[in-house]
Amino acid sequence: MGDDLDAVRIMFAANSPARAAFEYILAHAKAASFRFVLRTNEVRAVELQRPDRKLNPFAIQAQANHLNFYLRRPILSEHPGLFEAAVATFGPVKPNRLGEYRTHLKDVAEVDAMLAFLRNHDAWPSKRSDRRFVAETFERLTGEHFLHSARRLAAGFKDHPFGPSTDYDLLFDGMRLPPKAVFGLAASEALGFPVKPENFSAGESMVCFRMLRASGYQIVAKGESDTIDPSLISDEDRSWSEGRPRLVTHLRRERGTGLGRAKRDQFRATHGYLYCERCGMDPVSTFGSDVGEACIEVHHHSTHVAEMDDGHQTRLEDLQCLCANCHRVTHRELKAQLTGLH
Ligand SMILES: [Zn+2]
Ligand SMILES: [Zn+2]
Repeated sequence: MGDDLDAVRIMFAANSPARAAFEYILAHAKAASFRFVLRTNEVRAVELQRPDRKLNPFAIQAQANHLNFYLRRPILSEHPGLFEAAVATFGPVKPNRLGEYRTHLKDVAEVDAMLAFLRNHDAWPSKRSDRRFVAETFERLTGEHFLHSARRLAAGFKDHPFGPSTDYDLLFDGMRLPPKAVFGLAASEALGFPVKPENFSAGESMVCFRMLRASGYQIVAKGESDTIDPSLISDEDRSWSEGRPRLVTHLRRERGTGLGRAKRDQFRATHGYLYCERCGMDPVSTFGSDVGEACIEVHHHSTHVAEMDDGHQTRLEDLQCLCANCHRVTHRELKAQLTGLH
């Protein structure tokens, strides 16, 4: 992530609620235009700096299972009575020599209570637009997060705060899913806390659509047909699949659903590099540079023709990495098998 706070993150126990609480407060601080000042001398802490750089009103210090949250002198001086109100809400503290208020926050709910308290006292921005996370917050989302959330939604998962889509659909494995929900569930998984509809917006040119498209998903306006983006289909594909619904379904599973990207990522993670599973060709050593990887395509490899019907859910194991040549030959064989012709 581009915020250089890993020196602070490292202090938290892995997957601890405190770590999620830390990400939660950072996302809200960035949304509210605070800057971060890193302190790594005696303690691992980050100070929140107001955009005018005049004040560092808050500081967060990382511990294994909680974070210490400080109301620093500047904010206490600016808001008379804030110290006493904090004592009344979060309990008494022994003031340190700087006269700051310090409390432990151990999970997202406790951070939420603190943010609500500060907003109530005008010590934290309270406009709705200050809850819209900046693009950088979503940098850690990967194709795998998107695939996982698309799968859950396709399987009927409904226990989330994202409504049905009003204007756009995301095409996934023969289904139409609400893009905002796909992105929101993926973000919640990646960030470790529930991301709400108010934290980002969906729509053309927004980070949500940009990232989903970069991961290989097609997003279309409602009512627009779910034919595959013509740029993803070659003349060879077109003549191969013409008039054969099963072959069209086959192409739809391979192209523009995000599955291909996820398969390539998984294959690279498992084997260290991409190669053709049919002829063994290693494009990077053959062509001498990473651009050679462009010739590795993802093929929906189904032994049973029944699996090519619309209701079947594609698993990554159903997909195969093939070089362009082998993919073409494999498609010809598939057509011959379906038509009995050669
Ligand atoms: Zn090959
Ligand atoms: Zn194929």
